[in-house]
Amino acid sequence: MTLKKNLSQYFGYDTFKEGQEKIITAVVKGQDVLGIMPTGGGKSLCYQLPAIQLPGLTLVISPLISLMKDQVDALGEMGIPATFLNSSLDDVSYQKRLEKIRDNQYKLLYIAPERLCAPAFVDLVQQLEVSMVAVDEAHCISQWGHDFRPHYREIPDFISNISPRPVVAAYTATATVKVIQEIKVLLALQDPVESIIGFDRPNLLYQVVKTGDKLGYVKNTISHQFPEQSGIIYCATRKTVESVTEKLKSLGFLAGSYHGGMSPEAREQNQQDFINDRLHIMVATNAFGMGINKPDVRFIIHYNMPQNMEAYYQEAGRGGRDGEPSHCTILYSPADIVKQKQLIQLNQTSPERERLLFENLQYLVDYCHTNDCLRKSILQYFGESADYQRCGNCGNCLDQSEMVDITLDAQKILSCIYRMKNRFGLNMVISVLRGSKNKKVLEMGFDQLSTYGLMQAQSAESLREIIMTLVAKGYIVVTADEYPVLKLTPAASGILKGSETVFHKKHLLNIKAAKTKTPDKAKSLIDCDEALFEELRTLRRSIAQEKGLPPYVIFPDATLKEMAAYFPRSQAEFLKINGVGQTRYDHYGEVFIEAITDFAQNNPIAIRPRLEAEADPLETRIRQKDREERITKTPSWELSYDLFKQGLTVSDIAKQRELTENTVLSHLIRCDQEGKAIDWSDFVDVEKEVEIINAIGTVGLEALRPIKEALPATCSYADIKIVIHKNDLR
Ligand code: ADP
Ligand code: ZN
Repeated sequence: MTLKKNLSQYFGYDTFKEGQEKIITAVVKGQDVLGIMPTGGGKSLCYQLPAIQLPGLTLVISPLISLMKDQVDALGEMGIPATFLNSSLDDVSYQKRLEKIRDNQYKLLYIAPERLCAPAFVDLVQQLEVSMVAVDEAHCISQWGHDFRPHYREIPDFISNISPRPVVAAYTATATVKVIQEIKVLLALQDPVESIIGFDRPNLLYQVVKTGDKLGYVKNTISHQFPEQSGIIYCATRKTVESVTEKLKSLGFLAGSYHGGMSPEAREQNQQDFINDRLHIMVATNAFGMGINKPDVRFIIHYNMPQNMEAYYQEAGRGGRDGEPSHCTILYSPADIVKQKQLIQLNQTSPERERLLFENLQYLVDYCHTNDCLRKSILQYFGESADYQRCGNCGNCLDQSEMVDITLDAQKILSCIYRMKNRFGLNMVISVLRGSKNKKVLEMGFDQLSTYGLMQAQSAESLREIIMTLVAKGYIVVTADEYPVLKLTPAASGILKGSETVFHKKHLLNIKAAKTKTPDKAKSLIDCDEALFEELRTLRRSIAQEKGLPPYVIFPDATLKEMAAYFPRSQAEFLKINGVGQTRYDHYGEVFIEAITDFAQNNPIAIRPRLEAEADPLETRIRQKDREERITKTPSWELSYDLFKQGLTVSDIAKQRELTENTVLSHLIRCDQEGKAIDWSDFVDVEKEVEIINAIGTVGLEALRPIKEALPATCSYADIKIVIHKNDLR
């Protein structure tokens, strides 16, 4: 019972996530555990909650320095005393912390593996009552994984010096059978209680996009689906990272880079800016991510092909740790495969390892070309079976388009490659098939081939798509020579002879049409008031800035969404929101309740029904009174107007009142409608106004977004609204 009480009191949750209760109960009883849970599964709680219950100190061994600080901050916010020791501390603060630890002031101590065997620390630990040692990212002990940390091997020795032996708990998200076995043996777990939650991450939408215009895709996706949201774009090389970052920046996005060639300070700065929402997009090589605990990453785009399925699962897995929907997209191009193959060859490992690497890469290539469920394909890789054919939430399951027979097209392409003697790359083959007058085509005499101009009517994109499909299906190989060359495989003869057929998704063959389709904005699991959610995010950001903490440490997105769905306006209501414990309520309850109440007064609101018992009648009466009291106050829009009259700009008012500029603007528009004097001429300059009116003339007034898209990035939604209002266009 106290477990549940503490879960609610400190963490603000009423129920456990899958697997948590089993682990936590076992630990509290003194049994070793091994918790294998996917990212976002809630591993931290599996040692944080027992830490509160157990009498002594809980040591958390983690390789992730930035994660330690975040978690310690977050625990502080929940009223749980915790600290960390790692290389980021100077000598004086290190000593001070040791003092406080000796003085039993903490329930949790996070420590980097390198520190474990420092004599001063070993000494200290022997004087303490250590109830539990939690090993986070336990797969780091295995040489088989990609995150091997030699110091993890010292953990068993370290533990053997603590008397009495504490409970040992190991947690990881990545674990193939081999790695699980190694963790158990190398950590010397004693008859551990195991909890293995599968690899599935249902909130991640996996998709593969084949586009000749990667940057255009990225730009469209971010601005339509994920405006102002956090995302990571993984690129294969430092050079690509830099060029993509520059391009995104020049388009007005808040993007930054992260790769091994940057100075540690510059990298750290960008990482901090990303964590604190000062940068929305992190463009990075795979050097970025280990230890990024940011829970609200809404999209992960692989600008280039990842190395293999395991790396992809890890990298994509950094999206949506908070359980909210996130999109994981691979932008596929055959050239990337060639690059990966070259990299494998360059590395010159043993022939056995090289074969394994090629096999792993091939799995990913097949993933990119399959028409089957992508989630299933990922789960199968990890040896997990799915009890469905289609998950309904991946690119392929959502795309139910018609399949067409492309055997004839395939024959034309294969015979063209054959006639070009298996010696040319993708673009050259396409040029010949489309009858290009390109100098090289003519020089080589390819205009004399019977296949020259045979597919003139088809777009280059469509031909590229078919060729890539033939590559994935094994009829063509792309060789990793000096430059990528298309060659027929023996399997191609089946198609050429007409004994085999090939099918393909119809709409992908008309790439142009498919590209103009704008996908919907990613939908949240909780249906909430988006405008209020945005306001609460702004409020959270300003509090976070003031306290020097990442915003999600204040409240996770899911918690803000609940607030924006249920409009809690009393302490009791607020405490019912998932993720609000007593300490967080004490810190932030009032300001958030005020923002919500304010919003509710100024906007028509619809409170979403919650599936639980109604609030008790006394509570309802208090709420009623509360509301009446507030209604007699000056309406919010008038407060904004008063400030405006005092000469403050919209942005100043927004800052002062902790509202968004949009809200302030709607306040002013409302006052204008009520007959209060407002001179709109100062708001938008004349040139901009003309541009906006012209854009409206072209795309109409039905929705703001098309207008915004028709304009340069310097025109904001606010500008458009003002011009519409000022000119009485609606
Ligand atoms: P992991 O370390 O496994 O990736 P975290 O410990 O970061 O996962 O937890 C992921 C998210 O789930 C966090 O936002 C956390 O607050 C939330 N969470 C954890 N336990 C619960 C619970 N019992 N109920 C609701 N949310 C939870
Ligand atoms: Zn699917």
